[in-house]
Amino acid sequence: MEILDYTHPALRSQTEEVHEFNAELKRLVTDMFESMEKGFGVGLAAPQVGVLKRVFVYDVGEGPHAVVNPRFTRARGEEIASEGCLSIPRLRGDVPRAERLTAVWQDETGKRFRRTVEGLTARVFQHENDHLYGILFTDKVIPGTLHMIEEFEEETEPEAVSA
Ligand code: ZN
Repeated sequence: MEILDYTHPALRSQTEEVHEFNAELKRLVTDMFESMEKGFGVGLAAPQVGVLKRVFVYDVGEGPHAVVNPRFTRARGEEIASEGCLSIPRLRGDVPRAERLTAVWQDETGKRFRRTVEGLTARVFQHENDHLYGILFTDKVIPGTLHMIEEFEEETEPEAVSA
């Protein structure tokens, strides 16, 4: 699937709850895993591939997972780190995020989860969840920290979250 850039209206749209956990959803998730991997991202949300549903995928080094219909119930602490976005190539900036959060969600089969996530996983969850509301990291970036990186650094800058 083609990853849309920030100029596409889908990136500024609201998304709908998923009610059917069918073959179409499984195919969407599989295709999103592939696009995330190709883009060297740690996360990817459905609006980034033009699908206005409450779905995102992530992989923080423990294999790909799908998150459907997420809700955050509790957020704690604050941490500032560099982020990028697959829909805004090569741009990076520092974004404050909750350090830990408790979330409820479903996977692509409809199975329900309730977990507390922290660090990089918590950051990816917040970045991706924002995409489900048409919010981009540039809306939350600390002024003056936005900068462009070289194309090759997209793959090699390890501290940055590109999602
Ligand atoms: Zn993003």
